This record gives sequence, C-alpha cells and structure tokens, in this order.
Amino acid sequence: MLKHISLIVRHKTKLPKRIREVMEELFRRRGISVTEGQVDPQAEAIVVLGGDGTLLHVAGKAYQLGIPLLGINLGGLGFLTEIHMNEMEQALDSLISGTLELDRRAILSVTVKVSDSKSLTYYALNEAVISKGPLGKIITLPTWAGGSFLTTYRGDGLIISTATGSTAYNLSAGGPILHPGIEAFILTPICPFALNARPLILPGQMKVAIQLRNATEKISLIVDGQVGHELNEGDRVEVQKAKGHLKLIKSPLRDYFTILREKLGWAKGVGM
Ligand code: NAP
Repeated sequence: MLKHISLIVRHKTKLPKRIREVMEELFRRRGISVTEGQVDPQAEAIVVLGGDGTLLHVAGKAYQLGIPLLGINLGGLGFLTEIHMNEMEQALDSLISGTLELDRRAILSVTVKVSDSKSLTYYALNEAVISKGPLGKIITLPTWAGGSFLTTYRGDGLIISTATGSTAYNLSAGGPILHPGIEAFILTPICPFALNARPLILPGQMKVAIQLRNATEKISLIVDGQVGHELNEGDRVEVQKAKGHLKLIKSPLRDYFTILREKLGWAKGVGM
C-alpha cells in the first residue's frame, strides 16, 4: 500500500476543479501524503497529469530515483500518459493498492565529452537529437557504432531513438515503429542530404558515438525535447542503453496495440 506520492501537473493547464476535488478526496480517504510540483526522492510513485511532454519532463529523474511513473492524460496525444481523465479515480485507487502492472522501458544514457576530463550525462526516454543551428547549414556527423566507423551523416541532424520514442520525432522523420519490448535503438537521419541514407536499428547494448566535425555554427543536442545542450566543434556525443529501466505504470484498460490503433487511427475491427 502506497503512502506518499509526488504529483506533477502540466504547468500551462489549470486542473479542472472537479478533478482536483475527486483526487484530493481519494488521497484523504486513503491517507496519502502528496508533494506537488516536484519529484520528492522519498515518494513511492510519481503521478503526472498532462501530456507526454509533461511525463518526459520528469522521466529522467524518475529513472534515476527508481520511482514508478503513472501518466494521466489531460487531452494531448497521450502515447505515454495512457490513462484517460475519466479513468483517473479507478487508476489512482489501484495505484495506491499496488495492483497496477509495471512496464520496464529502456532509457538512453547520453554523454557529451567536451575533453578527456570533462563530460556531462543526460537520460532520455524518447531520444537524443543532434540538430542544425539557427542558419540551418547542413551539419556533418561522423558516427561510430560498437567501436566501428559507421558513416558520416550530412543533413539537418540525427535522431537516436528508443523504442518508446519511436512513435515521436523518429516517426515524423520516417523511422520505424519499434515495440517497447524491444531493447534496440534507432538511428534516424533528419532530412539527409543523400538519397541513400536510411533509418538503422541497432542492438541495445551497442554504443553509438558522434564526433562533431566542420561545425561552422552552433549545433544542439536535445534530450526528449526537454533539455538543450549547445555542442561545439570536436565535442563527442556517446549514446548507449542506460543500466536498469524506467518503471512506467501500465493502464489496466488498454494494451500497446490499442494505444497504437487509437493514436494512429488504424482500423478498429477485424474486416474493417
Ligand atoms: P512538443 O513539441 O510540444 O510536442 C511533441 C508531440 O509529441 C506532443 O504531441 C507529444 O504528445 C508527442 N509525443 C511525445 N512523446 C511521444 C511518444 N513517445 N510517442 C508519441 N508521441 C509523443 O514537445 P513535448 O510535448 O515536450 O514532447 C517532446 C517530444 O517531442 C520529443 O521527445 C520529440 O520526440 C518530439 N518532437 C517531435 C518533432 C516532430 O515530430 N517533428 C519535433 C520535435 C520534437 P502530448 O501531446 O501527449 O504531449
């Protein structure tokens, strides 16, 4: 039985009064203490009310602290925030009783090596993107995989996506959808300046390294659309599967294929 949760509400949205009342009454009745607006390291679960973007905002922290994450959708696309608002009370009740199932999602560890002694690591649930600068000049990205030279990508950038992120930026850039049970990741070039550049699926345990070359303007590293890091000539970005997983709490009401069907508008029934 849970006793303490962190509650994160999408900052742009005013939570409807009725929803807040229902939630507060449930927490009071079940004796739950709540920290709102930040991730409390002592919390036993993090509840996010918002869209996938809101969930991505706390995913890295939830992974690092090993705290399970439950997403309740407030009207956005909602691939990761699987619970609909009208299912909130039932889902929170089951969460408190500990009867919800966990999904273990792979996380990318993204390290920027500025020099031999200086590096910074970020954690991504969706992807790491290396993206062109303000003038939109073609960028040149020599890339290694598993210690071997792979190729030099030239274009607007490169997406290194997890299976979870495969339905996000990767999909818009022409990459494939990967079931989140697959611990592989995808290299997807963004608007490549070559007709033969194609998305590539790599084994999860392989390390990918990109070394910046001939950078004539600032290039960005963007992690899950939440963190931006300015890269400079000579910087090296190393991406690999992080140890362990993010614990994402599953909706008891819909499986992955139902979510895909709902969100991508696929045929709903046999023979349709
Ligand atoms: P945003 O630019 O405001 O919205 C991005 C959209 O992607 C939202 O509709 C979001 O859903 C959806 N999304 C996020 N993760 C998803 C996933 N795993 N599967 C399917 N859809 C997903 O940014 P944001 O809300 O902070 O989300 C950041 C993400 O945006 C990045 O990780 C990147 O994947 C994506 N992005 C996509 C493009 C593109 O498609 N051209 C460009 C930049 C970034 P909600 O509406 O539920 O929040």
